[in-house]
Amino acid sequence: MTLEVALVLVGDELLGGTRQDANGPWLANRLTRAGARVTSWTLAGDGVAEAARAVGVAAEYADVVIVSGGLGPTDDDGTRAALAVAGGVELVEDDEALDLVRAAQRARGSELDARRRLEARLPRGATCLANPEGTAPGIAMRLGRSTLFALPGVPREMQAMFDTAVLPRLGDLGDLDPASTASLRTSGLREPDIQDALAGLDGGGVALGLYPHQGEQEIRFTARGEGAEERVEAAAAEARRRLGAAVYGNVPIEEAVVGALKARGLVGTTAESLTGGLVARMLTEVPGASDVFRGGWVVYSDAWKAARLGVPERLLAERGAVSKEVARAMAEGALERAEADLAVSLTGIAGPGGGAAPDGTLIPQGTFYVGFARAGVRTRVEHHRAPHSRTIVRRRAAVRALDVLRRALDGNG
Ligand code: ATP
Ligand code: MG
Repeated sequence: MTLEVALVLVGDELLGGTRQDANGPWLANRLTRAGARVTSWTLAGDGVAEAARAVGVAAEYADVVIVSGGLGPTDDDGTRAALAVAGGVELVEDDEALDLVRAAQRARGSELDARRRLEARLPRGATCLANPEGTAPGIAMRLGRSTLFALPGVPREMQAMFDTAVLPRLGDLGDLDPASTASLRTSGLREPDIQDALAGLDGGGVALGLYPHQGEQEIRFTARGEGAEERVEAAAAEARRRLGAAVYGNVPIEEAVVGALKARGLVGTTAESLTGGLVARMLTEVPGASDVFRGGWVVYSDAWKAARLGVPERLLAERGAVSKEVARAMAEGALERAEADLAVSLTGIAGPGGGAAPDGTLIPQGTFYVGFARAGVRTRVEHHRAPHSRTIVRRRAAVRALDVLRRALDGNG
């Protein structure tokens, strides 16, 4: 039986929604990759009774319980007491833990005070875990049929302690069955079409997952046991063959674009209205983007579209800013002014609400145009409709513009 792990994340701020849990996802990812099965995550309040109850429930079914948070010395740190309650034992000062706390205080130029000393109190029978990044030691103990590890709440401290003190011990506590995985990303295909194209690939011990993410889709292949890696690779290769140009490896689309520009020694630029610089921002989040992107334009008003990019005022008046013609003029204006090899432009209506064209017809919310200009090639414009809220429309449009660049660079544009 594969080792089963339950997570208990302690903190009133997590329950109240003022802080998002970062430890659950990190732990679940680490544990799953190590070959354990994460069977539940529980959020629990700081109160001793609440945390004790959550821990007690987890220990009824899991082989391993991992608790994070509430190990510090302040009054709201109740995890130590909760573990003592759950185990039906008292808290006692532990010599080894005391040495660790004292050494950590010294390293910070402080002496041990009465409050810090509380960090050395463990449920009777428990052992301490060194904290490479902070002062409060972690705790390892038996609880019913489970082995429990309590780690600090601060993500950096929790991660260091997990890697040094918990991960190496998991193999002794049960069977680990690590999975082989491969992932591909695609953009510009509808989910049902991807499903159809991949029909039959999830047999033969390979599980297939489809994870849409704001205009991009990640396709993940997972297999376990004998020959898992080969099976996963074969399924991914077949998926690549079937999906063709829609697939771009396993990095986010902005990385794919920067990589492709670099590989071809080309420079790109952007002219953004609808997205207000989001495409430029996504590109510049990729390390090394400066080799392939010198800058772009945010031209939100008609006046700026005309003044900065030379979009003819007549076009703006006759066709309106949200039009094929203006998208084309924006892309061409940017290409020329940036002395770039490629330019993308975006104009559209993010909402809320639609807009009116100069001839009085309604332009629905989520309408947008992507222009693509390249020296010596006829400028192309795509028309799209993303029936979503403002933030999603903008994100989808940015991904779409990057996909136009990527496909052009891959020679499939
Ligand atoms: P300290 O010694 O700093 O008090 P602790 O082990 O007692 O650490 P907490 O008091 O629960 O941990 O949390 C310390 C900090 O870490 C807080 O800012 C808290 O919001 C944050 N934190 C705790 N748990 C999580 C979590 N699961 N995800 C993200 N942040 C967390
Ligand atoms: Mg605390």
